[in-house]
Amino acid sequence: MKLFTIFGNPVSHSISPLIHNHTIKSLGIDACYTRTLLKDGYLIKNKFHTMKLNGANITVPFKEDAFMICDDIRGIAKDIGAVNTIIKKNDKLVGFNTDAPGFYESIKDFKNIKDILILGAGGTARAISVFLRQKGFNVDILNRSKHRLAFFEKQNFNVFSWDDFKICKYDLVVNTTSAGLSSDILPIKADTLQKLFKKAKYAVDVIYNKKTPFLKDAKEAELTTKDGSDMLLYQAVLAFEIFFDNKYNKKDIKQYMQEAFKLFS
Ligand code: NDP
Repeated sequence: MKLFTIFGNPVSHSISPLIHNHTIKSLGIDACYTRTLLKDGYLIKNKFHTMKLNGANITVPFKEDAFMICDDIRGIAKDIGAVNTIIKKNDKLVGFNTDAPGFYESIKDFKNIKDILILGAGGTARAISVFLRQKGFNVDILNRSKHRLAFFEKQNFNVFSWDDFKICKYDLVVNTTSAGLSSDILPIKADTLQKLFKKAKYAVDVIYNKKTPFLKDAKEAELTTKDGSDMLLYQAVLAFEIFFDNKYNKKDIKQYMQEAFKLFS
C-alpha cells in the first residue's frame, strides 16, 4: 500500500485527506492519505522516511522548511522558495509547488486580464505572483507592512505598503492575506478597496468556503468573484498527478475531487 500525508500545524482543519482518499478509493488504488501534525518543519525529512511515505503535501507554516529539506526541487518551486508537494524518487525527496499553477488554473476562465494587484506578501502571494508574471501578467504587490516586501523587491516587482500606495487601475485584485479568515475584516482600508473595485473586473480571495468581507464588497461593486475553492481543487489535482506519476486521467481525478468537495463541504 502507498502512503501519503499532509504535514502542517494546525492540520486538523485540512480537507486534503478527504479529497485524496475519495479519489484514491474511486480509482481503486491501494493507498491511504493521512494528516500529520508537526512541531517543526525540520522534522519533515525524518518523518517522511520513518513513516515510509510515498508522498506528502505541506501546509502552513512549513512550505519554506519543506523547500529547504528537499534533495531536489522541480519547476516553479525553485523561484518561489516554497514547496507544497513532495515525492520520493530513488530515496531522495523531490519538491514541487502546485499552489501557483493551481491558482492560475482557477482563473483561466477570466477574460482580458493584464494588470493584477496582489494583496499580501506571505507564502501564497509569493507563489501566485511569481507564476502569474511568468505567464505574462503585470503583477504589483500591496502589503500591510514593509518587512515582507524584500523578496518581491529583489525580484523587481512594484511593491507598496499601506503607507505609500496610490490607486491605479487593476483588472484583477487578489486577496492572499489571512484577513477575513477567522474574523470579518478587510485586507486593506474600505475606501481604498472601493476605489480599486471601481476600476477592476475581477476579485479573487484565496480563502475558501467562506464569504469574506472582501468578496462581499467585490460583489456589491458588481465584479466577477471567486473564492479559493478552485485553487484548492486544482493544486490537489496537480499533486495527485505527481504522487501517481501521471498514471491516471486528469479529468477523472478532477471529477472525483469535485465529488469529494460536495460530499464533505
Ligand atoms: P502568510 O502567513 O505567509 O501571510 C499572511 C499575509 O497576510 C501577510 O502578508 C500579512 O501581512 C497579511 N495579513 C495578515 N493579517 C492581516 C490583516 N489583518 N490585515 C492585512 N493583512 C494581513 O500566509 P499564507 O500566504 O501561507 O496564507 C494566506 C492565506 O491563503 C490563508 O488564509 C490561507 O488559508 C490561504 N491559502 C489558500 C489556499 C487555497 O488552496 N485556496 C492555499 C494556500 C493558502 P503582514 O506581512 O503585514 O503581517
